[in-house]
Amino acid sequence: MRGSTTRPGSRHLLLAGAGIPGLSLALALRQAHGDALAVTVCDPGLAQAAVRQRGRAFAIAAGGRRMLERLGIWDGLGAAAAPITEMAISDSRLPDPVRPVFLTFAQTPRDADGPFAHMVEAEALVEALRAACEAAGVALEPVGIARATPDGDTIRATLADGRDLRTALLVAADGARSRLREAAGIGWVGWSYPQVGIVATVLHARPHGGRATEHFLPSGPFAILPLADGPQGHRSSIVWTERAADVDALLGGEPDAVLAEIERRFTPQLGQLALEQGPSAHPLAFGIARRFHGERLALLGDAAHVIHPIAGQGLNLGLADAAALAEAVTGALRLGLDPGAADVLVAYERARRFDTLAMAAATDGLNRLFSNDALPVRIARDLGLGLVDRLPGLKRFFVGEAAASRGTQPRLLRGEAL
Ligand SMILES: Cc1cc2nc3c(=O)[nH]c(=O)nc-3n(C[C@H](O)[C@H](O)[C@H](O)COP(=O)(O)OP(=O)(O)OC[C@H]3O[C@@H](n4cnc5c(N)ncnc54)[C@H](O)[C@@H]3O)c2cc1C
Repeated sequence: MRGSTTRPGSRHLLLAGAGIPGLSLALALRQAHGDALAVTVCDPGLAQAAVRQRGRAFAIAAGGRRMLERLGIWDGLGAAAAPITEMAISDSRLPDPVRPVFLTFAQTPRDADGPFAHMVEAEALVEALRAACEAAGVALEPVGIARATPDGDTIRATLADGRDLRTALLVAADGARSRLREAAGIGWVGWSYPQVGIVATVLHARPHGGRATEHFLPSGPFAILPLADGPQGHRSSIVWTERAADVDALLGGEPDAVLAEIERRFTPQLGQLALEQGPSAHPLAFGIARRFHGERLALLGDAAHVIHPIAGQGLNLGLADAAALAEAVTGALRLGLDPGAADVLVAYERARRFDTLAMAAATDGLNRLFSNDALPVRIARDLGLGLVDRLPGLKRFFVGEAAASRGTQPRLLRGEAL
């Protein structure tokens, strides 16, 4: 960290964006430094209750779970975090009468660390993070950041209500269309997929037993992800990828017609279905920032990278960003150095760039391979899946990959203190 020196402004950090990665970073920093570091999170969405997240749920891998445990959030989630103990993958066409399972992952007694992922309901997680941030003394401001101007040892952020805040480091956790990233002139390589992600919560007659299922269909994957039982019975979240051109026809009809389309793709073993929440449709895109930082600016979460939800890893990448940035900033502050200095931000980018590129490339490749009905591609991928299923070592590698490999992870993802 050559050339970085402590300055009064270095005791304040500002974040734009109160999504799960942004709130996790704010909480981690405040817990590590207490009153020695003022942390402010600005987001116009803070004016609304977390209830707007209702109906969304995320697969959170083991590393993210360890981080949320370390931050003191996990235990309070209770039934809002349901373990995935088994995963089955099938590859078929929509009219096929059976969906043969090609690949299965199950939790084994050797998995002392617990399930490789949990389905976590977004409303409960956002509520818990907001409450913990408030209790830890993070200032939560329900206002957007309009622009930011680096100014020597600090960066000046102008809020949408006209106030100016000075900070050593501004974290842009303001989502895929990050205005702060664009204003800083940081390039973006990306494209839209001709697909939409449809999300809904369904009730089903029989229990799922912790099993997640992903049916690869020619228009894209249809994932059935286990949630905890609710007052109305057994529940799962679905993430259904469809061709964008077909979405209006599929979702525009009466609720019974929408449910019938879901039933055509669902797993018959779970019995009769009903809709509990949704569906809501989300355009899908790929994108990665050319740099993860600018002058006194760090990009976090979807502001830095957006990937296809085929493997449920976008938020997991954002949590890993938060863990890595918290570690880089904490390292600087403990040495009395400037947390917004260029070398701190380079260290952050170095910690995240390779993992992010590898995951982005893998998810894009998987989507191209599976959202495809050409016969030679079908045969090749089915052989590939069958082979992996017969090699337990390889399978464990794949599960370990999905849950992020342990050795090189930032401390929080290993469940260790900063
Ligand atoms: C269909 C679908 C399913 C998915 N499933 C999974 C999954 O199972 N597991 C997983 O890991 N990931 C999943 N993802 C990815 C995950 O949803 C995203 O990666 C994650 O929500 C990104 O969080 P974020 O906080 O970076 O961005 P966002 O959630 O977009 O939040 C950005 C925040 O910034 C605020 N903001 C915007 N502009 C400003 C400004 N100027 N000033 C201040 N605040 C501002 C916004 O109000 C918003 O609250 C899925 C994605 C899709 C589309």
